[in-house]
Amino acid sequence: MKEFKLVINGRLTPGALSMDVMNPATGEVLVKCPRADAAQLEEAVAGAKAAFSSWSRLTISDRRARINAIADELESRTEEFARVLTLEQGKPLQDALGEIGGSVYLMRSLAEIDVPDRILKDDDEQKVIEHRTPLGVVAAITPWNFPVSTLILKITPALLAGNTVVAKPAPTTPLTSLMLASICNDHLPAGVFNMITDQNDLGALLTKHPDIAKISFTGSTATGQKVMQSAASGIKRVTLELGGNDAAIVLDDASVANVAPKVLAAAMMNAGQVCLAAKRVYVPSPLYEEMCDELARLADEIVVGDGMQQGSQMGPLQNKAQYDKVRALIDETRQDGNIIAGGVGHSGPGYFIRPTIVRDISDDARLVKEEQFGPVMPVLSYDDLDDVINRANDTPFGLGGTIWTSDPERGLEVAKRVDSGIMWVNQHMMVMPDIPAGGSKQSGLGAELGIEGYCEFTQNHVVYMAK
Ligand code: NAD
Repeated sequence: MKEFKLVINGRLTPGALSMDVMNPATGEVLVKCPRADAAQLEEAVAGAKAAFSSWSRLTISDRRARINAIADELESRTEEFARVLTLEQGKPLQDALGEIGGSVYLMRSLAEIDVPDRILKDDDEQKVIEHRTPLGVVAAITPWNFPVSTLILKITPALLAGNTVVAKPAPTTPLTSLMLASICNDHLPAGVFNMITDQNDLGALLTKHPDIAKISFTGSTATGQKVMQSAASGIKRVTLELGGNDAAIVLDDASVANVAPKVLAAAMMNAGQVCLAAKRVYVPSPLYEEMCDELARLADEIVVGDGMQQGSQMGPLQNKAQYDKVRALIDETRQDGNIIAGGVGHSGPGYFIRPTIVRDISDDARLVKEEQFGPVMPVLSYDDLDDVINRANDTPFGLGGTIWTSDPERGLEVAKRVDSGIMWVNQHMMVMPDIPAGGSKQSGLGAELGIEGYCEFTQNHVVYMAK
């Protein structure tokens, strides 16, 4: 594997420190990767601060052209990126190709956004114009489940709006982020895009830094709370995309044969490590037996294996800490419910867990109340629609959710009553670059995507001009 470098103020730089990056499919060290220290963080922020003035004064079309050049190069290196993504993250190569292809599409689509000045008033005495100005240096902090697409979601609108960036990936998936950073560095003026890496020790320094104007963060709710506290001192702008505990509600008119494969896919995609995964499934009592049996049958068919092996449909959990957390939840579940598929690891090394279905579990079990972020799905029964909506809403989270029915209009009415930022009826993970998305309650603050997502990287600036 090639050498990886940090990007600091226009230079590819070795880390002051280094760290091991593991392959989650083998549990072995994949490569040594540079790790920044606090002085390198300072250099990155200083570089981004110095670059802001000239970058923000370029025209938006100049900035767009450079972003499109980055997307073109990423596209031309799709295979290379996908292979490294599978090696560091664990997802099957086919899914990794999908993440890179999707990221290219996302980058190009988000780069098209334009928010022209608005004339708010124009009369005999005055003209009032609102325009959008960039904020300054943006800290972009990403998690390990979709390292490339979560980064693209942040840096595209940030750069397009005229901000400069210091990005920091999760410690366990820094490689594709560093590769992308090197491409950005080739196409952008020195200092406009910086990337440092850490072992979970620089996030707080970065978010507290007085020269950071805006923090765009994707990760857990617990860390999101710390980010918000850090932001308070400087009244920094924050966008938080946090955890979820999305309910999948199957209505009594649904066909189990139609719905079961889709609900399972909604729960098991990326080995369940998706913020918007279906994390608990509610099924009407008359359909419960059939649904449980079908989910278990389908779960047993999923091929779990090294993402580099052809035919693997589900890879390992991304890291040892997450693997241990999910194993502990499964062990607890042996007392709380009945495991009807999976429940076991995979023979040999690596952080594999077979798709696991748990039935007869109570609403109070940790697997139901907390975000498992792994391939373990609790299936619960219900008798009354109002009651199940209350149960779905009885959570501090409010990210997404799904309704499964043979009557989409009825599904829509139920979807409206679930307190979350995004709902799907009879589909899942349909996300469009021009449609904003963001969580409610403790699942987030602000939005990503669309014009709303772009505006989060800007200040609205109003000028009253006397005539
Ligand atoms: P995490 O919160 O542990 O880490 C996320 C990032 O924050 C990492 O880069 C980490 O190094 C950094 N970090 C750690 N401590 C920090 C601090 N004090 N200040 C600033 N940054 C700090 O999350 P994770 O385990 O990497 O990701 C999984 C979580 O992310 C899940 O809860 C999942 O639901 C959530 N997620 C949400 C979305 C969304 O769009 N809502 C998308 C993907 C993942």
